[in-house]
Amino acid sequence: MTASEIRKAFLDFFVSKGHIIVPSAPIVVKNDPTLMFTNAGMNQFKDIFLGEAPAKAPRVADTQRCLRVSGKHNDLEEVGVDTYHHTMFEMLGNWSFGNYFKKDAIAWSWELLTEVYKLPKDRLYVTYFEGDQKEGLEKDTETYDLWKQFVDESHILAGNKKDNFWEMGETGPCGSCSEIHFDSRPDSERAEVDGATLVNADHDQVIEIWNNVFMQFNRVKDGSLHQLPAKHVDTGMGFERLVRVLQGKTSNYDTDVFLPLIDFIAQKSGKKYNSAAKPGDEDWAAAVAMRVLADHVRAVSFTIADGQLPASNKAGYVIRRILRRAVRYSYQTLGFKEPFFYQLVPLLAEQFKGVFNELYSQKDFVQKVVLEEETAFLRTLSAGIQKFTEVLNVSADNVIGGQAAFELSDTFGFPIDLTELMAREKGWTVDTTGFEAALQEQKTRSRAATAIDTGDWVVIKDDESVEFTGYDETETVAHIVKYRKV
Ligand code: ATP
Ligand code: MG
Ligand code: MG
Ligand code: MG
Repeated sequence: MTASEIRKAFLDFFVSKGHIIVPSAPIVVKNDPTLMFTNAGMNQFKDIFLGEAPAKAPRVADTQRCLRVSGKHNDLEEVGVDTYHHTMFEMLGNWSFGNYFKKDAIAWSWELLTEVYKLPKDRLYVTYFEGDQKEGLEKDTETYDLWKQFVDESHILAGNKKDNFWEMGETGPCGSCSEIHFDSRPDSERAEVDGATLVNADHDQVIEIWNNVFMQFNRVKDGSLHQLPAKHVDTGMGFERLVRVLQGKTSNYDTDVFLPLIDFIAQKSGKKYNSAAKPGDEDWAAAVAMRVLADHVRAVSFTIADGQLPASNKAGYVIRRILRRAVRYSYQTLGFKEPFFYQLVPLLAEQFKGVFNELYSQKDFVQKVVLEEETAFLRTLSAGIQKFTEVLNVSADNVIGGQAAFELSDTFGFPIDLTELMAREKGWTVDTTGFEAALQEQKTRSRAATAIDTGDWVVIKDDESVEFTGYDETETVAHIVKYRKV
């Protein structure tokens, strides 16, 4: 099955179970102070769960574009290093708004996976919530009993609050959940180590594919849980992971979701993509870099298409950081000295034509924005890398000092997490507390400067020198140059 056939089969299946298909919400969340980006299919239904908005239909299904790069669900550091966490991914979902509950949700997920998709039953594991005394939550024996009709007891596993109690953010709708995991290891390995011991253990061949959440509570600001007015079902299945297991691959990047991008990057860089490379192998760094580019272009493009431009603060800065992270890999690891990342945008847009048309219809605009950002960062990137290397040479304790990290950010536009990533590659760490202090100091300084100036604005004289404080600060610099008092 191709990726698009797999997506269609999911939606068709839930239509056959009385669901209405709804469009994906945008990735950028505008009206919720608790959430920057859509991190799950349920986000757009939050008000329905809370009882604050009516449901348009009791059963709906869709594919939702999600982003997990900030807040409670942040997978950025995993991306490219592992083969199954992405920044942007599609979450296939079906929902019941006060309609069916555990019994149907469980039966249908099993039917879809084993009868429609024909996944082998003995490679599937399911989980249920073991309860949590501190929260006053009971063990979910109902879910256990329901699974027992279909699944051998050795494949039904208890899980703790971290894995089996799903929460959208610090506050909001939540509830116990039941995950479905797939073991794609070869038989020889499966005979040696029981798959049950590898569930939720960060093993990249025993991965979670689907989560059925039974929404029952609202977590409020003081941390307490309150019963929702009704019980709901909220499920989320990682589309790229599903495609991977159905196509018999061991990496999401080896499926037709990512291969067109990976192939293009490999071809243009003249480097081979080795999916099987392990840390320490010669081609490991290039493999990570190619995966990062193929992943990050999705996050950046969809976010821009949904109306969030890269910027120097808030959601826009998250996107700029992801973009710069990609450009650094592109430049330093893959050797693209000229803008390259932006060339991936049309490929991606083509791929999502008819799925998420928002990107296709704006592809020229999105590509232009990415090119501008990329070009701007490339102006300071090589000098920044040189500076970074100098810091490595002069520091003795394998720690990048706060001041140096600040300079990399302020003068060369290196977001702190990029400096941390580059440090990690060398086995170093970064003094982030020192960095924060330096940043704070600069903020205080610029606030003071603005305060003095407000009364009497004068254009600065040509011969008065103004220190260039880097690309990131161009707006501020322009402001200072224009208005600093003589
Ligand atoms: P994991 O434990 O693998 O990090 P999760 O428990 O955080 O996943 P959920 O919040 O339960 O994930 O989301 C529902 C489904 O979305 C998961 O079962 C998985 O298939 C998929 N998913 C979650 N995070 C990612 C990601 N970063 N990239 C791709 N798919 C993801
Ligand atoms: Mg996770
Ligand atoms: Mg999980
Ligand atoms: Mg989960």
